Amino acid sequence: ATERTSLFIFFGGTGDLAYRKLYPSMFNLYKKGTLREHFGVIGTSREKLTDQQFQENVLKSLDVAKTDKEAQKFVSHFVYEAHDVTDKAHYQVLKKRADELDKTYKLNGNRIFYLSLAPSFFGTVAGYLKTEGLTDTEGFDRVVIEKPFGRDYDSAQQLNDALSKSFEEKQIFRIDHYLGKEMIQNIEAVRFGNTIVESLWNNRYIDNIQVTLSEKLGVEERASYYDNSGALRDMVQNHIMQIVNLLAMEQPVSFTDVDIRAEKVKALRSLRVYNVAEASTNFVRGQYGAGDSQRAYRDEDNVPHDSNNDTFVAGKLLFDNYRWSGTPFYIRTGKMLADKFTRVDVVFKKPLIDIFSFPQNQNAPLEANVLTMYIEPHAGFTLRLNAKTNGQGFQTEPINLDYFVDAKDSKATPEPYERLIHDVMKGDGTNFSSWQEVSYAWRFVDQIRKVWDLQKPQFPNYTPGSMGPAAADELIQRDHRQWVYRL
Ligand code: NAD
Repeated sequence: ATERTSLFIFFGGTGDLAYRKLYPSMFNLYKKGTLREHFGVIGTSREKLTDQQFQENVLKSLDVAKTDKEAQKFVSHFVYEAHDVTDKAHYQVLKKRADELDKTYKLNGNRIFYLSLAPSFFGTVAGYLKTEGLTDTEGFDRVVIEKPFGRDYDSAQQLNDALSKSFEEKQIFRIDHYLGKEMIQNIEAVRFGNTIVESLWNNRYIDNIQVTLSEKLGVEERASYYDNSGALRDMVQNHIMQIVNLLAMEQPVSFTDVDIRAEKVKALRSLRVYNVAEASTNFVRGQYGAGDSQRAYRDEDNVPHDSNNDTFVAGKLLFDNYRWSGTPFYIRTGKMLADKFTRVDVVFKKPLIDIFSFPQNQNAPLEANVLTMYIEPHAGFTLRLNAKTNGQGFQTEPINLDYFVDAKDSKATPEPYERLIHDVMKGDGTNFSSWQEVSYAWRFVDQIRKVWDLQKPQFPNYTPGSMGPAAADELIQRDHRQWVYRL
């Protein structure tokens, strides 16, 4: 791999995300040679640690033996500064250390500021980075922002205005870790690399598209955050809207961030933003009750007993454009569902005339072709076709053509964060959310939230281990359709 040169400053550098995902991903890049001699890392947060203690913590996070020589060499590039992000004076200390590392490792003034802390600090940090001169270097300056990016359109815009005072849009990398997943990136390969797919990819041949992000666990330790967010904000506004957008957009002029973003924004502009009546018919929400060995959401730690937070959402999205008019996108996501998986089901229209099903033949009606893209845990596709059943007579049955990434390859699949950190070093924004995408997504989601805030839900309304409330099935059955994945 080509070696990349940069200084990294991780704000919130002792947090859960940093130890669990960010440092191990950096180490993978190190092992592959993307990071080698010319990189340096400053971890910073409120905790008081020496450089050596920090290096030991990072080493522990890597899942290797303490004596691993390569890992020891890797962590020797890490230093630590205790720092309160609201304390202006401290940025001078950070700047001094940054300049030192720049010299030691010959970093050409390239800097990546990774903001892995509470979103309420994003604006403050970005402001001081600029005013205190940390961005005054010869090389590139890029800022990476963790989710959530606002909690509605207004707060997202405020946050973006604050960031824009210090950084230009092309310097801002908003993480949506779903965009770092192998199979999500494969959506574009499958669509734009195959005539037989892309030529059928429209409302003439596709009946509907279904996106399901199903989680088996409940809120775990994140309850205090989650109760103020809910499934609509936490999953739909970002991950689901991004997936839908990759499925819906037109072919980009070229496979570059600028051209891809242009198409994504164009698609979002034709997404129908619902009025009150449409929002209440086209979206349903849920909250899990108690199961056999599971407490109800309202009884989880740090959740108010009268919480009306949504732990499930299902909905229908409509694009008012030539390609998709009349072909809905159904989405659903939730906690405490039957299984943990993410998949996309593309349901094609049935043949207009079914010549095999006539009374004498007693054949079951032809089934629709379905292209299923399995995103996780197993990555792959299946294409369901109708074929003749072996033997006398003329019966048909659906068969599946399968492709699955084999276990060896899936072990070698880069972690989303590994890919995304690499992209930031390359300056490639393809797999990050642009401000325009974020703002259109919030405008869509805000309308649904607005309706929900007016009506008191009947919660809880689904049992752990199910696929959500009955209303989620009714939503799609009303249109004479069914979820492809169902229990
Ligand atoms: P965390 O609470 O584990 O860590 C927060 C870090 O910020 C700590 O290092 C803490 O010392 C530091 N910090 C807090 N206040 C500070 C201050 N005033 N000055 C300096 N440092 C301060 O959080 P986390 O789980 O690592 O999450 C970090 C970010 O990543 C958040 O924006 C979160 O929404 C996002 N995120 C986390 C996950 C995850 O799996 N943990 C997933 C997606 C997004």
